[in-house]
Parts: sequence; C-alpha cells; structure tokens
Amino acid sequence: MKRIALIAHDGKKAELINFILQNNAYLKDADLFATGTTGNHIEEAGFEVTKYMSGPLGGDAQIAALVATGEMDMVFFFRDPLDKHPHEPDVQMLMRQCDVHNVPLATNMASAKLMILGMQYRES
Ligand code: PGA
Repeated sequence: MKRIALIAHDGKKAELINFILQNNAYLKDADLFATGTTGNHIEEAGFEVTKYMSGPLGGDAQIAALVATGEMDMVFFFRDPLDKHPHEPDVQMLMRQCDVHNVPLATNMASAKLMILGMQYRES
C-alpha cells in the first residue's frame, strides 16, 4: 500500500482538505500519515490517518525521518509562503530528505494535482 504524508501550514489546511476530498478515490487506498493538527483535520474529513507530533513540535522532523529510512512513498506539503514558521529548519530538512532520497514532493495544489495524475497513470 502506498504511504503518503500529508502536511499543511495553517493558512493552507482548508486547501489540503479540499484536495484530499477531491482525490478521495486515489487516497482511500493509501496509508495516510500527517503532522498532528493537519491529521486532526484529515480525521474530521473522514479519513484514517496516522498522526505524528504537531509540526512546530517536531512532526515534520518525524516525517523527514520516515523519508530518510525509506518508509514514505510521497509527500504532500501545502506550505504557506506568506507566513512565518518557527519550525522552518524542520521544513527545509523534510524537503531536503525528499530530494536526497528522490521521494516525490508536492508543495502546492497545482503540483499536487499533477502528482496524483502521474501516479494514477503510472499505476494504470
Ligand atoms: P501541524 O503542522 O499539522 O501540526 O499544524 C504542520 C506544519 O506546520 O508543519
């Protein structure tokens, strides 16, 4: 089963939930993982998700560790570029680990949609 990390900064959480609902057909067959607060929203939307710590407390770092150890197949991280984040170093580390280990990473809605389309094409 595909292992998918879902994370959104506060200003992007509603957008991520919309994205998840729109792509329910693909995501319902996946193992979902999320940082704490994002995970709460995902649960409220009706999905099962494994939750880690909240991002500012280390959740992004926990997901980065899963990427580093080959335990994550793709990452959706809806970042808010118009806000400041105390855990920016962890965010950078997560993105770096995706690049180090060649794990697909989408950081906005447009690339997330293309990533799902690409995965569906690859799996068809
Ligand atoms: P959160 O963390 O899901 O706990 O809000 C996300 C983040 O800001 O990295």
